[in-house]
Amino acid sequence: MSLKYDVLVVGAGISGCIFAMSAARNGAKVLLVERKNEIAAPLRGGEAFCKPFFDLLAEEMPFLKTVPKWELSGTKMVLEKFEILNKEPKWLAYMLERRVFEKTLAIEAVKSGCEILLASTFRGFIYNKGLATAAIVDTPDGRKKITARVFVGADGYASKVRSVLGLKQFSKDLGTAIEIEMAGAKLSTEEYIQIFVGQVPGGYAYIFPKGGGRVATGVGMRPLIEAGKKKTPIEYFNLLKNEIPELHSQLQNAVALEIKGGCIDLEGPIAAVHKNILLVGDAANQSFAYVGEGILPGMVAAQIAGEAAAQYIKNNDLIILKNYEKDFLASEIGKEVLHTAEIKDAINFVLASNKSKEYKQFFTALLEMEIIDCSKAAVKETMKNNTVQELVELAKVKIKENNFSVEIIQR
Ligand SMILES: Cc1cc2nc3c(=O)[nH]c(=O)nc-3n(C[C@H](O)[C@H](O)[C@H](O)COP(=O)(O)OP(=O)(O)OC[C@H]3O[C@@H](n4cnc5c(N)ncnc54)[C@H](O)[C@@H]3O)c2cc1C
Repeated sequence: MSLKYDVLVVGAGISGCIFAMSAARNGAKVLLVERKNEIAAPLRGGEAFCKPFFDLLAEEMPFLKTVPKWELSGTKMVLEKFEILNKEPKWLAYMLERRVFEKTLAIEAVKSGCEILLASTFRGFIYNKGLATAAIVDTPDGRKKITARVFVGADGYASKVRSVLGLKQFSKDLGTAIEIEMAGAKLSTEEYIQIFVGQVPGGYAYIFPKGGGRVATGVGMRPLIEAGKKKTPIEYFNLLKNEIPELHSQLQNAVALEIKGGCIDLEGPIAAVHKNILLVGDAANQSFAYVGEGILPGMVAAQIAGEAAAQYIKNNDLIILKNYEKDFLASEIGKEVLHTAEIKDAINFVLASNKSKEYKQFFTALLEMEIIDCSKAAVKETMKNNTVQELVELAKVKIKENNFSVEIIQR
């Protein structure tokens, strides 16, 4: 094994593999180091991917078309007294077979010329004149010093690279989730995502159908909002599975195939460029904060960062690396990352108000689905509506005005 590369990437998850592929395709010699013994096992995260963006990416990366998936043609938000069915493009989704998806990305990275070192854990950097010159990695062959000119932390929400850089490892607003893949569910629909809002303050329970009675189900929550309640996502899930009639009836005979859990930092993107050390994906909080989804933004950021790293190898100008962050945040998906952090902040504002539980439920659903603008002024103006019924009427007007494909149904 060589100990000298152009680029060393820590973490062979989705962001790491896309980064590596992008840098290698642009001429860089890349090594991915991954602490697990197998790519994509165990899995941490979920599998929902916005359909229109997946289709766009698959035009650029045709190998994505080979990943098995289940198509969902809308999202149903279930509140105590209402259902909101949203068929706007953003709320259409594919459920990807994530294990196959991640392995496909790793295979493509290898085809592009990258090397992967499994069971190898990044520990720290060696610096010379302010730049990192080598990474210390514990490999099955012992501790190695691997030199490179660019280093990348694609090592997820608990990023070691982030902590070695001296950055705060977790913000206060850490989302936590449990996701269970089950077979044998008796679903009322395999066409729509079902999100149950209201029982978990600031979070939700969900069913994402995967076809043939298979589902990804679970609870995503925000301990920041939950303060004092002290329930874990699995405790909530076990409780709500019995308490929410629709969850109970659909899942009562279902059997777990896989349990995944993990976190995602919802505070919004952090500085991603530190001279010749870059952060991508969850390591840089590049996610859609209001729903805790990071696959798509991580892929887009990694693609941009990979190209920048390869350019830097050719031109040796640190400004090229610096531009990665600017270019990502200026991209459509980067702007969406910033926007979703604003939506999440608006949701926080509503949740902290003294309105009733039912009012907050409905208001936050409208914010998430972008039926109501998330700017401070718009939120304050909307709050002048005192009752849920007034909010419903306002929402109906907005839906009509904007020709949204959204239906509000009284339960
Ligand atoms: C329960 C749950 C459900 C989710 N559902 C969705 C969803 O439906 N849709 C969506 O878009 N997002 C979802 N997310 C978020 C999504 O999973 C993440 O945004 C995504 O995995 C980020 O990819 P990544 O490559 O940046 O990081 P990761 O997937 O975390 O990959 C990081 C990799 O780095 C490796 N690593 C870590 N430390 C080291 C080290 N020191 N040395 C070497 N290797 C290291 C890890 O083993 C891992 O392979 C969910 C998250 C959770 C927890």
